[in-house]
Amino acid sequence: MPELAPNDVILVVEDNPANLLLVRRVLQRSGFRTVEATNADEALQRLTEVRPNVILMDIQLPGRDGLSLTRELKGNAATADIMIVALTAHAMKDDRDRILAAGCDGYITKPFDTRTLVSELQAIVATAGPLA
Ligand code: MN
Repeated sequence: MPELAPNDVILVVEDNPANLLLVRRVLQRSGFRTVEATNADEALQRLTEVRPNVILMDIQLPGRDGLSLTRELKGNAATADIMIVALTAHAMKDDRDRILAAGCDGYITKPFDTRTLVSELQAIVATAGPLA
């Protein structure tokens, strides 16, 4: 069963500074390395520099939203294999469908629980197949 391991790299795409700080601390405390972006353009730039094991993708971003970026990454052979987990305040059925239709491998709803964020992430990774 695939599982994130210490030193794995997680690209966190999140425009809210408080959320970004919180996610960074939780992930780093579990031994993961984080790379960060606050909008779609920055995320694309980071992806030219590093290949993350997982992308944690905020959906509501200034400018291009996370679903649009997810569609692009999943449509590009160079990045299609990177697992993408949405971070979203939207959890209604229509939103879930849109998130999965865009190509996200799973989603975590905000506000997230810092005590369970990593286990939620691992549960998605475990069901989503081998890590790229
Ligand atoms: Mn946001």
